[in-house]
Amino acid sequence: MSDCLFCKIIAGDIPSKKVYEDDEYLAFWDIAPKAPVHILLIPKKHVTSLYHLDDSNVSVVQGMMSKAPEIAKLMELNDGFRAVVNTGDGGGQEVGHIHFHILGDVRKATWSGFPLQDN
Ligand code: AMP
Ligand code: ZN
Repeated sequence: MSDCLFCKIIAGDIPSKKVYEDDEYLAFWDIAPKAPVHILLIPKKHVTSLYHLDDSNVSVVQGMMSKAPEIAKLMELNDGFRAVVNTGDGGGQEVGHIHFHILGDVRKATWSGFPLQDN
């Protein structure tokens, strides 16, 4: 999609700090990390959000479920990670191209609702 920020990153028109790429997916550092590790995983096929799944794109988004732990391991998050998918305005989604936030070391994170309390 021509006016989509993440489609421009996929096309290479906007630079990104890539950590992983294959034919279907791209993963890169969030420009404003909210945790010590903060990676965005996106499909190369433009899908606006989880509210925009249909027969033509659902398998690509399902594939992100197994790609997310692969990326987390690549980032050496061996003790775990958090995946967040903001959806729509009410979910705080700012970029209309579906993405998983992959967050590591979340107790040091600065997301709304963070930092988590140790208990
Ligand atoms: P969301 O609010 O869930 O749509 O998340 C969008 C994320 O994209 C935010 O965490 C931003 O910091 C991040 N972001 C915006 N522009 C860029 C960019 N050019 N490169 C990398 N991350 C970006
Ligand atoms: Zn897009």
